[in-house]
Amino acid sequence: MTTTEDCRAFTARLKAYEGRPAATGGIGKDPVNAPMIRHWCEAMGDAHPAYTGPDAVAPPTMLQVWTMGGLSGHTGRAGAYDELLALLDGAGCTAVVATDCEQEYPRLLRPGDEVTFDAVIESVSDRKRTKLGTGYFVTTRMDIRVGGELAGTHRFRILKYAPAGSAASEGRDRADSAPARGEPAARRPRPVVNRDNAGFWEGVARHRLLIQRCAGCAAPRFPWLPGCNACGCPEWDTVEASGEGTVYSYVVMHHPPFPAFDPPYAVGLIELAEGVRIVSNVIGVPYDKVRVGMPVRLAFERYDDDLVLPVFRAGDDAGAAAGAGPEPKPRPEPGPGTRDGG
Ligand code: ZN
Repeated sequence: MTTTEDCRAFTARLKAYEGRPAATGGIGKDPVNAPMIRHWCEAMGDAHPAYTGPDAVAPPTMLQVWTMGGLSGHTGRAGAYDELLALLDGAGCTAVVATDCEQEYPRLLRPGDEVTFDAVIESVSDRKRTKLGTGYFVTTRMDIRVGGELAGTHRFRILKYAPAGSAASEGRDRADSAPARGEPAARRPRPVVNRDNAGFWEGVARHRLLIQRCAGCAAPRFPWLPGCNACGCPEWDTVEASGEGTVYSYVVMHHPPFPAFDPPYAVGLIELAEGVRIVSNVIGVPYDKVRVGMPVRLAFERYDDDLVLPVFRAGDDAGAAAGAGPEPKPRPEPGPGTRDGG
């Protein structure tokens, strides 16, 4: 897109998708049922009595469970959604991040209910410049019904964008400004520092990982929040993490590609000795040698003049098990506060 006029015309093409079906005639693969409710409650740690027993209802936030296609794919007819996304891909908006989801529950679901659903492309935003890159917010709304009666709506918004630093994001013509091979990778995203987490980032700057501790009930918490989710107390102080931790869980990122990162790389959920967990990256072992339960130790990694992030180095045992070869290039993911719910 080279001119404002082109940009306006493209936005108008995108807006023409508003109101068009994203999917129609969907039928839930299983009726609402007790085993799936039980598995979900166990996974979420939700022991509310309304979800068990003869008069059980399904947790309302399970809504999407009843419409998911699973590995065997979706039922119903695809609408114009894929076409819209392909149009955005063609304009250089090849990256995607889910930004938020809203649900409404006009009617509770009970075991035995059979759901049907339809989805519509509700809105496409104007072209927006974000920290991730320039792109368009696309909102779809799914209406879930039982016997024709509206039981829930699921509104889902994504940002389909051209990564910051890419030609498409800067509005340059891609043909004459494609990055050369070997060109330095884009800068890593900056953390979003606000009044609720500023103390955390001040600690990181001094190479200290600070955990909040509730003044009311002494519960440690992380990431930083204005109040305690155990007792509601707004007063707190901090404790410095000892730096000892273990890999509680991890994923290996392959897709989508992002300019500042070099997939595949491992992103770990680290359980600190203090009992809280932090998303960060595990360094000192290849991405495919990261394991649940692996001991790790806090380190601070400098990425550029004004970016230091806490990362976790795999312990000596893990290093020996991985062959203690030359250390791979660290590939951390953004620190806390840089994620946007995607
Ligand atoms: Zn508390």
